[in-house]
Amino acid sequence: MIIVLKPNIDSTSSGYQQITDYLDRFSEVQIQTHQVQGHQQILTELYLLGNTKQLDQDEISGLEGVDRVIRISEEYRILGRHQDQQRLAGFSYNGIDFSQDNFHVFAGLCAVDNRENVATTMRALQSHGQICTRMGAYKPRTNPYSFQGHGKECLPWVFELAGQHGIKVIAMEITHEDQIIEIQTALKETGYPTGVMLQIGTRNTQNFELLKAVGRQTELPVLFKRGYGVSLNESLNAAEYLASEGNSSVIFCLRGMKGEGGAPHRNLVDFAQVPLIKRLTRMPVCVDPSHSVGGRGRAPDGILECVHAAAQGIVAGANMVLVDFHPNPSAALVDGPQAMLMDELPRFLDDMAACHEFYKSRITTWSE
Ligand code: PEP
Ligand code: MN
Repeated sequence: MIIVLKPNIDSTSSGYQQITDYLDRFSEVQIQTHQVQGHQQILTELYLLGNTKQLDQDEISGLEGVDRVIRISEEYRILGRHQDQQRLAGFSYNGIDFSQDNFHVFAGLCAVDNRENVATTMRALQSHGQICTRMGAYKPRTNPYSFQGHGKECLPWVFELAGQHGIKVIAMEITHEDQIIEIQTALKETGYPTGVMLQIGTRNTQNFELLKAVGRQTELPVLFKRGYGVSLNESLNAAEYLASEGNSSVIFCLRGMKGEGGAPHRNLVDFAQVPLIKRLTRMPVCVDPSHSVGGRGRAPDGILECVHAAAQGIVAGANMVLVDFHPNPSAALVDGPQAMLMDELPRFLDDMAACHEFYKSRITTWSE
């Protein structure tokens, strides 16, 4: 059971006290408190675990500080929607709202290689009004002898360049829990010129100890990638590990499924599941066309197949697109062949914005 408290309720208020006094009577019920920073308010939810059958939903709904009470199913306790259309979906971070209604582009380098390419990319993003990017510093590579990313050495200058170019959020993958502290330390030492969304890569979807460590901190939100070889249900349960440890500021990212089904694309594009994830959970949904399609194949209509894939996801309601760009893909140290070119950026942004507008018009069509 979840008790949603009235917005901005103070834990010293009489309404709050009344609820905790009431719940104290049930020794077999454990309470977990979760706070989410919404657009204009802080929302507090109390998760009741244990023997909740003895609780009277109507009685609790009548208590002073209670907004509503939701009975939950077993799956995705915190991130799940539980058929409650009013529950807050999404979060705010570094002044930016991420929700199941709005849309952001995170275009940038698959891997940070050198200062010049980072600066060129950020300059282009800024000149097109972009405030988010992707920058990989820790790269999980198939081959142990391949470039593994510059790691913590590059963080200070990447963050400083981001600050100079008005970037508010960088999606950055981590592969080990020690890297959380490295990122937090670099942000602090550079005076927080930007923000970081910690990315969990597809290879770590079920690395539960990493997920627990990321979930124990609430400073940085999370971009969680679907596992490329497990079911959607398993990936959603894995995302719930983050929330169960305390961090429910999570965006769920589709990035294609491994296997021969998608060949000659790198993976089978799974963006038809965008609306399904929005129905099952409260997470904003991201699509990654670069790692799904994995190349620069061009359809006979002249449009890159990765752009077609991104458009499909956004027309179906995706809230974010994570996409590889590079100023000089042939010299990129990771995933150059799938990167888009900087002179394709304005057309890409216009196309994606048009797709999101079209998605909104589809809602109007179907609500009439
Ligand atoms: C990435 O986004 O850089 C990446 C490695 O993606 P994935 O985990 O989806 O393979
Ligand atoms: Mn990559």
